[in-house]
Formats: sequence, C-alpha cells, structure tokens
Amino acid sequence: DDGYALHAQYMNPQLPRMLHAIGFDKTYVRGQGAYLYDAQGTAYLDMLAGFGVYALGRHHPVVRRALHDVLDAELSDLTQFDCAPLPGLLAQALAAKTPHLDRVYFGNSGTEAVEAALKFARHATGRPRIVYCDHAYHGLTVGSLSINGAEEFRGGFGPLLPDTAIAYGDIAALEVELRRGDVAAFVVEPIQGKGVAVPPAGFLRAAGELAHRHGALLIADEVQTGIGRTGDFFAYLDDGAAPDIVTVAKALSGGYVPVGAMISSTAIFEKVYSSMDRVLVHDSTFGSNAQAMAAGLATLHVMENEAVVDNARKVGDQLRSRLAELVDRYEMLADVRGRGLMIGIEFGRPSSWKLRSSWTALQSARHGLFAQTIVHALFHRHRVLTQVSGDNMEVIKLIPPLTIGEAEVDRFVAAFVDVMEEAHR
Ligand code: PMP
Repeated sequence: DDGYALHAQYMNPQLPRMLHAIGFDKTYVRGQGAYLYDAQGTAYLDMLAGFGVYALGRHHPVVRRALHDVLDAELSDLTQFDCAPLPGLLAQALAAKTPHLDRVYFGNSGTEAVEAALKFARHATGRPRIVYCDHAYHGLTVGSLSINGAEEFRGGFGPLLPDTAIAYGDIAALEVELRRGDVAAFVVEPIQGKGVAVPPAGFLRAAGELAHRHGALLIADEVQTGIGRTGDFFAYLDDGAAPDIVTVAKALSGGYVPVGAMISSTAIFEKVYSSMDRVLVHDSTFGSNAQAMAAGLATLHVMENEAVVDNARKVGDQLRSRLAELVDRYEMLADVRGRGLMIGIEFGRPSSWKLRSSWTALQSARHGLFAQTIVHALFHRHRVLTQVSGDNMEVIKLIPPLTIGEAEVDRFVAAFVDVMEEAHR
C-alpha cells in the first residue's frame, strides 16, 4: 500500500489511479521463474514477464551467478579510456546471431538503441526522413516518439521530427514514400507489440529489398520480438529479411540490468566513426557496463544451453493452437495470433453475444472494456497476470517467460476457459 501512496505523491499521479481502476492494486514482494508472490506468499502466474524482459523467468540462477561473479571480480569498469573484453564478447555473440551484421553499439534501453539506429541511418545515407508504421512503438524520447504511431503518446509534444507513417504491412505505401528519394530508413517491428499485429508473410523481406532499391535502409526493431521471443532468435529471420540495423534490449540481460544494443554493419559504422574526431560521436556513459555485459553473456549462454528459443517455439505453438480452438467455441473471440511466445487474443464485439446477465452491460460498453474485464477476471479468479493492448484495447497480450512449459500452458488455458464460461450463460 505504501508503494501506491508514495508513487501517487511523488511520481506519475495517474498510474496508481489507473491500476486501482482496473483492479491491479497489488504489491508483489518476490518473483521466481514465471511466478510473482505477494506478501502472503500467494503465487501469480506472470504472463507478461516485465513487458518481455524476463525471457528466462525471474532470477535465473546462471544470470544471477554471473552478476555476483562480476561484482566479486572488482573489474575496472567504465574507465572510459580502455577497450574492455566483456562488451567485445557480447558484441561478438550478437554478431554471430546476425551473420550479415558485424558491429554493435551498446546503450541502456530499447529507446536508446532506436535513437542510435535513427542517427546512424541518417548519417550513413545523408538523408533526413524516417518512414514508420501506424501503431508502432519504438520508445518515447523525441526521436523515437517521432516514429511512434499513437496520438496518445505524441499529443502535446510536437513539433516532432519530420517523419512519415504508413499502414503496417502496406508495401505499396512504402514504395510511394521511398520514391521521394529523401528516406534514410524504414523502421519496423517484425511483429508489432501493440495488439500483437502480424504483417503479411514476406513483408519484412520485401520492405528491405524495396528500401535497398531506393537507397534507404531497413531497421528491424527487435526490442520486443528479439532474443527468442517469437521462436527464432530474431523475428526477422522468419521471412529471410536482411535488415541493415537491428535493435535489441529487454530480454538481452535476462531482465536483470538495463541494456540496449544496436547491431549494424562495418560499412555503416565506418561512415559514422569516420575519423579520430568522431570517436565519441555517439556514446553513453553507462553503455557496455560490466554488469549489463555479463548478464547479457549469461543470458545468451542459457538460451543456447537450455534450448530456450526452441522451447518458445514449441510451447508457443501449443498455447496458440489451444487458444485458437476456442475461437470457434466463443463468439466473442475474433482472433488468436502471434509467433512463438508473443500471442494476441482479440475480442470482437458482436451485439448478439449470449452473455450471463451480470456481463451484458459490457456488450454496449466502450470497445476494449470487455478484454479488460477478462484480464481482471483472470487476475482475481485465477491469479494470472495478463494485459490489454491494441488500438482499442481489444487484445489480451501474452509475453510470458520463454521458459514456461506445459504446466503453465494448462493453467492459463484452464483459467481462460473458466472465465469465458463464466461470461456466457
Ligand atoms: N521498441 C520496441 C519494439 C519496444 O517494444 C519498446 C518497449 N516496449 C521499445 C522500443 C522501447 O524500449 P525501452 O522501454 O527499453 O526503452
């Protein structure tokens, strides 16, 4: 309770109010694997994993060990005047996952990775404009906000950078923009975080080829989709795209330490770092700090050793197909989509829904309220944590740890079915 009161008094005054309004007024005291625990020791299945950062679940022992070790080693971190091995090793490990890209910049967040990508793309091409997608989310700093596709975030902060949005997946619209000859890059999430929107098959590859034909770059923002989330190490691999820049963050450190990385090519880095004068042209004090690098190396090691990406694909397929079966059973379910363990459950709003009388008021309510009500019931009846997402908050989004197994899939599906049954007569 103190957490809520203090937050309201000193920080964002709306957040505690909003959490209270949607029934999420709970303070957890501990997290382990895919579960959160409150002060009474009650377990909650966490299908959000800190917005995707806890790909290995909370407090994976190998990542924790690596952080203890790096502290115990008393490294000469952040001297600013040497070249340390840990960033080199993590960069090497990331480059090995992107065979056509071989250079890495480390910052402290996804947003910083995106900012670096925007700057490097503009510098490397000598062009000003970035094309992005409706509903895109790439961060909230002025640069990344300029390529944010939601007025709820942009409003009141203009004028922003001169950038242009196209509809997600609209290759013809992209071509129109590219033909103008001033586009530095097309920046895109391989699957959009907002509403878990999946583009038409082959979109990323086609977008990349088109961008290259017009002298522009393709930036794949893998902050949410990357590091195994979609059942490939990077989601762009699914359709064989060849982005010029890949941004990652979130799961890269297993959730322990803020970190972000921009992965690109020697050609682009050489343009930006073109002389001794430009050594620090783009940099960050804490970027490539030893804790972040050690956590990153440990995370990638666990991913490899415990076949976490394969698990994400296998368990994701199971969960998605079991949920997809329910689309035929419940009229109010419009769609189940996603890849790996990035899953969206979309609700439609037909007026003919045959609901239990206590739920019928929702039928005419604001779109999205229904999904929020299901999220609320999952939480309070079954102690399962999910969130709403999408343009009208009509999608329940699942981004659980990539390490979940059959037990969690069973628990989630049983809880979801129970809530859907409760909603129906
Ligand atoms: N890009 C994408 C695709 C994201 O999902 C996010 C975070 N939700 C960001 C960028 C921003 O990352 P961060 O919050 O770590 O700055």
